[in-house]
Amino acid sequence: MPHRLLPGHFTVSDQTIGWADAGAHALLDHEPGTLIGRPVHLLLGEGSPWLGHLPRGHACDVDFARAPLRTAGGALRLLGLHGERMDARTVLWTCWPALPAHGEAAAGQAGPAALSRAQIAQGLAAGEFRLVYQPKVDLQEGRVIGAEALVRWEHPEHGWLQPRHFVPSIEDDTLIEAVGDWVLQEAARQCRRWAHAWTAPGRRMPVAVNISPRHLERADFIERLTRHLEAGDATNPVPLELELLETPAVQDLDEAARIITACRDMGVPVTLDDFGTGYAMLSYLRTLPVSGLKLDRSYVGGLLDDVRDRAIVRSLLALARSFDCEVVAEGVATPAHARALLELGCTRGQGFGIAPPLRAEDLPGWVAAFEAAPPPWSSSPPPG
Ligand code: C2E
Ligand code: MG
Ligand code: MG
Repeated sequence: MPHRLLPGHFTVSDQTIGWADAGAHALLDHEPGTLIGRPVHLLLGEGSPWLGHLPRGHACDVDFARAPLRTAGGALRLLGLHGERMDARTVLWTCWPALPAHGEAAAGQAGPAALSRAQIAQGLAAGEFRLVYQPKVDLQEGRVIGAEALVRWEHPEHGWLQPRHFVPSIEDDTLIEAVGDWVLQEAARQCRRWAHAWTAPGRRMPVAVNISPRHLERADFIERLTRHLEAGDATNPVPLELELLETPAVQDLDEAARIITACRDMGVPVTLDDFGTGYAMLSYLRTLPVSGLKLDRSYVGGLLDDVRDRAIVRSLLALARSFDCEVVAEGVATPAHARALLELGCTRGQGFGIAPPLRAEDLPGWVAAFEAAPPPWSSSPPPG
């Protein structure tokens, strides 16, 4: 039974906090003290009026304060604190249930000691890998333009593992190709599921997959990509995109350029990930026929208080414009970062200040809620 916390404002569900009127299927656990049996995490932007209400002793870094709310009572009290005065968007944007994907965000998790390649191969074969999807949005129009698929490992002993625990150690091994292939296949499947079951019919949700140079440069990459794109329906390929990682590791720029052109001809745009970090990035931009750039989050993070980062972002944006490349800024951590990017003319962003990586089943609800109201950085008055 849907449970409306504040009439006309918002609801709490096991997926997200969303608009009551957007039909969020909100359910509160019957068991007192739990919210769908899960703790709730709060992500509060700097300057949030909620900061003063955080339980003591919770870590607070530059961008965020995070506090697991262990009880429904706690969540309700907190939501109630600002009651009718609070913009429902603030709630949507700052609070979500603690999915495994966000358990990782709880600061300072060391994770397991190095996992061997054999263990990683075993995990892949055992079906323990998962994908989460982080929305990319048009900051100006308040529209979702796609999602990035990010790999996770649901390890039976170590729990929910981020890629830093297993991707770097296989980057120079054929295993990265097997993992990448699984990611492509799963992302394509998910695109197909969304195409059939999205609540807004006909909604297209391009999914970007991270590709290691070693995988892209495989002789049969295009052949395999075609198979994933067209599986089941060659006339209706899924809207996949690629984000090329670690560009300095590209072995043969001319060969990579040929493959990227073939991708583009198949309707699969390729962007350069973490742009601005690799040395010789200008020669990559000159040689590789990419459609876009992901502006590295290290520069975006410094936008608000570092004039040099601001200058770098401004220059990278100008560079991208002259190469006719779309730019998506990574690491948009707060509404203030979004505003700063818009001021500089960057209209596309992704980051924890917009949405964390979400489970596939949570994405349609989040998209509906996001697009139903102006984003918190817009100058429009809050609804209601
Ligand atoms: P990336 O492709 O640059 O992905 C963005 C990373 O930034 C993600 O971390 C995402 O969760 C994180 N992020 C998003 N918003 C924010 C923010 O506002 N602040 C901060 N500090 N971080 C933010 P994740 O998922 O841990 O991925 C890390 C890296 O692992 C990726 O960086 C990519 O290099 C690699 N990776 C992820 N999935 C895959 C995959 O399927 N294949 C390969 N080969 N590598 C992958
Ligand atoms: Mg990426
Ligand atoms: Mg990146």
